[in-house]
Amino acid sequence: MTTLEAGLRAAANGFAGELIFADDPGYDELRRIWNGAIDRRPTLIARCTSAADVAAAIGLARANALPIAVRGGGHSIPGHSAVDGGVVVDLSRMRRVEVDAERRIAVAEGGALLADLDAATQQHGLATTGGLVSHTGIGGLTLGGGMGWLARKHGLTCDNLLEVELVTAAGEIITANAEQHPDLFWALRGGGGNFGVVTRFSYRLHPLGPVFAGSVIYDGADAASLFRRFREFGAGAPDEVGQVLVLTTAPPAPYIPESLRGRPAVIIAGCYAGPAEEGERVLDPLRRLGTPVVDQFQPMPYPVLQQTIDPMSEHGLGRYLKASLHEEIDDPTIDLLIEHKQATPSPFAMVMVTAVGGAIARVPADATAYAPRSARWAVEFHDSWLPGQDGAAAREWTRAGSRQLPAPVVGSYVNFLIDEGPEAAYPTPTYARLRQVKQDWDPDNVFRLNQNIAP
Ligand SMILES: Cc1cc2nc3c(=O)[nH]c(=O)nc-3n(C[C@H](O)[C@H](O)[C@H](O)COP(=O)(O)OP(=O)(O)OC[C@H]3O[C@@H](n4cnc5c(N)ncnc54)[C@H](O)[C@@H]3O)c2cc1C
Repeated sequence: MTTLEAGLRAAANGFAGELIFADDPGYDELRRIWNGAIDRRPTLIARCTSAADVAAAIGLARANALPIAVRGGGHSIPGHSAVDGGVVVDLSRMRRVEVDAERRIAVAEGGALLADLDAATQQHGLATTGGLVSHTGIGGLTLGGGMGWLARKHGLTCDNLLEVELVTAAGEIITANAEQHPDLFWALRGGGGNFGVVTRFSYRLHPLGPVFAGSVIYDGADAASLFRRFREFGAGAPDEVGQVLVLTTAPPAPYIPESLRGRPAVIIAGCYAGPAEEGERVLDPLRRLGTPVVDQFQPMPYPVLQQTIDPMSEHGLGRYLKASLHEEIDDPTIDLLIEHKQATPSPFAMVMVTAVGGAIARVPADATAYAPRSARWAVEFHDSWLPGQDGAAAREWTRAGSRQLPAPVVGSYVNFLIDEGPEAAYPTPTYARLRQVKQDWDPDNVFRLNQNIAP
């Protein structure tokens, strides 16, 4: 045991969770996060069980001048929830969700995953906006914004946030909502993990029965016309419609005809956030944009939809992403996206275009720290690589695609930033206000492993 470890153990006598050091069982599993390219070795992983534990862990780190990483679901793509030689405030034992069905409110602990939130709320036929992959943490997702199938109907996850319990840099446990600490509450809705550790999130819920949803796979040879029809459908679609287009390489899966495996494919996925019968009718054109090779649209429970992309988002691969938000996707942009996908031999490379707008766009841009409300489309370049590979080509492919996009960019989503700097996500007045809130609540920049807003 090192002197530092002995000192930390001795000082942590009020801590009710687990303290995991490098030689403890489970250390290697617990230090890993979703992105396999991130390989960091913290001094201590503090597995908290309560807000008091979180306060104790923050105090321990500060007293020993150790950097703090906060870990919810571990999905930070740039790896902010991992730290070399610091303390990970690990919330993975804080995943309880309580639902008040009558008032349509869910209260979730800060380490809950989307799967936890969806399972608990759907027991009452309720839901709130989440993301597309069920093992994403609600913590990072909500504090950055939160885009998912229900966002065009019900707004971002942060638009459904009613209140938080938060542990401040000073170790105080406070409540923030529209009345109590309204500036802090404003900043927490889009400003990321800069202001404290949220131990409870309260969300507004909405009735949601089984949904009509799924995906269709088309031959990539028709990408140019499919993309244009997808865009046209989106222009007239009601808020209930969530729609995503993916330019990908058809996997060698049993449900893919052999002739398409390994070749360019277009996946169109959709969800109707309303009655399933209505959804089947409204989404029908998405299933007939061309000649489908595979059609997996059907009525399904919402939590099933929320897990359909999980198998493609497994932990452990090296990952890189570039993303931007746009009001229009013009023809030159469509052509560039298709050409760029075709130019890489990587079977993992994909381009994803998601419809935003709807209820997201009806919230005034200064009402929350999430500001790029006028966007209609999110464009993402993703690539991955196997453990042991360096990922240089994948990184360069995503960067080059993003650099060459002809469509004007209206902003960036902070949860999809890697190394662009936080200013990329915020207009100047928003950033200035965020800096003021940071100065008020974390003047020493204790929470700096994030898209960091300098105090
Ligand atoms: C496979 C995958 C799919 C995704 N899909 C979507 C999607 O559909 N929609 C979408 O909007 N985003 C999506 N994202 C992005 C996702 O929202 C961010 O990566 C988010 O940060 C993940 O949150 P987390 O808690 O899992 O991450 P973590 O890595 O645990 O945390 C990331 C950061 O969030 C902060 N944080 C986390 N929890 C807390 C807390 N309780 N209190 C204070 N700070 C906290 C910390 O600053 C931390 O560094 C996806 C990411 C991945 C990897």
